[in-house]
Amino acid sequence: MRSALLVLLLGAVACAPSNVDALLSANADGDATPTATAPTPAPTRSGQEWGARGIGDPDFPLDGNGGYDVSRYLLKMGYNPATKTLTGNVSIEAKATQSLRRFNLDLKGFDVGKVSVAGKPATFTRSGDELSVTPAAPLAKGGSFTVTVTYEGVPQPVKDSSNLGTYGFIPTADGAYVVCQPNGAKTWFPSNDHPADKARFDFELTVPEGLTALANGELTKKPVTSGGRTTFTWSERHPMVTYLATMTLGKFELREGRTAKGVPNLAAVDPKYRSTLDNLHTVTGEITDYWSTVFGPYPFSSTGGVVDDFAAGYALENQTKPMYGGFKPDESIIAHELAHQWYGDSLSIRRWEDLWLNEGFATYAEWLWSEHKGGASAQSLFDDYYAKPAGNPMWAYPPGDAKPNDLFNDSVYTRGAMTLHALRTAVGDTSFFALLKKWAQDHKYGHVTTPQFVALAEKTSGKQLDQLFDAWLFKKGKPAL
Ligand SMILES: [Zn+2]
Repeated sequence: MRSALLVLLLGAVACAPSNVDALLSANADGDATPTATAPTPAPTRSGQEWGARGIGDPDFPLDGNGGYDVSRYLLKMGYNPATKTLTGNVSIEAKATQSLRRFNLDLKGFDVGKVSVAGKPATFTRSGDELSVTPAAPLAKGGSFTVTVTYEGVPQPVKDSSNLGTYGFIPTADGAYVVCQPNGAKTWFPSNDHPADKARFDFELTVPEGLTALANGELTKKPVTSGGRTTFTWSERHPMVTYLATMTLGKFELREGRTAKGVPNLAAVDPKYRSTLDNLHTVTGEITDYWSTVFGPYPFSSTGGVVDDFAAGYALENQTKPMYGGFKPDESIIAHELAHQWYGDSLSIRRWEDLWLNEGFATYAEWLWSEHKGGASAQSLFDDYYAKPAGNPMWAYPPGDAKPNDLFNDSVYTRGAMTLHALRTAVGDTSFFALLKKWAQDHKYGHVTTPQFVALAEKTSGKQLDQLFDAWLFKKGKPAL
């Protein structure tokens, strides 16, 4: 993510968990490479075998759920912009990580019609943003099951917060802009809404004829129109976290093609932003290919970008299709959101406190892009920020421990990027750039934590780096050079 304030004032970008060793790796869908990671085992309530209401992130205690690991979401959705009504028929394939008599999904609002588990009607209750499901028969630990939920209503985006702004399923004049970091997936589909549980996604999105519904991944067949409505079928076959899923829809102008290296590339803009369509498509292709030389092979099956007519105040790195909310993206923000495809999307954080692993990397990518294009070097950008006086708020906020009430603090971005530059200076360019590639390759489609990054940096460089990381990531005050 990158914020619009920065975009508008500086021509600059924004986006958005830490350490549970008990996470089990499980094959997501039988595909050879993609893997999903199981959530934290839930405590059993006095023998009642209830899945926990949260996945175990102390900063966001009700986000996600315990007791199961999702492998696939099938989202069959319809949306009518005239009534702002969303109808959902969602099937979730999951594996029980404990025996379960009851488990939760995250869902905000809506009238839930029917819930079934393994094809049999289940009972359910609502409380806050929790949907508690009691299957007709208990689920055995290790067993796979499918839960299906039908529901309808007017989506209510999250209008938070000092720190997070408006996010989730956001109605627009002609459709909806759907950007969900950190926990807005629950505003449009029932889910295990926390990045610690990745899954593949299939979408069948039905909207009024003449509108386009965009989702992650690729179209798997031609859109089908019947009775004045068109259904778009998309599939993202690589594991994805819930906050990156989208069904942004409305009037869009499209440009399709491939990057020079052959990656399918789809740009889509609201007609109001027609003049930026070609530039978005060209620059996205160029930067996707360039990052593949710096960070290693592009991790997904397509790239692209979407500009919608909604002043969200930020851009988000939605997997395969970053979303730019109500502005013409410049090269710097496109470089930021595409760098997230490696760091943030393919590699996902397990706890929000580790957000610098996403934002520090994507911000540093802006500096690398500037350097590549003959603009300011990463060193000179580092020097400019380092010149900020000791009283600057950035020095009081250690970026290695992002705070839930101030998640997207500038320090997580800028001081996070400075941490990487300090590392580069300490280990040298050869070791640093080898580390960036190895980090992306070793954890492709998986989860990462800060201690894992520190350990890999020490291993690849052969240097003791704990003092450097401690000063830059975890201590208040301006680090010494
Ligand atoms: Zn970002």
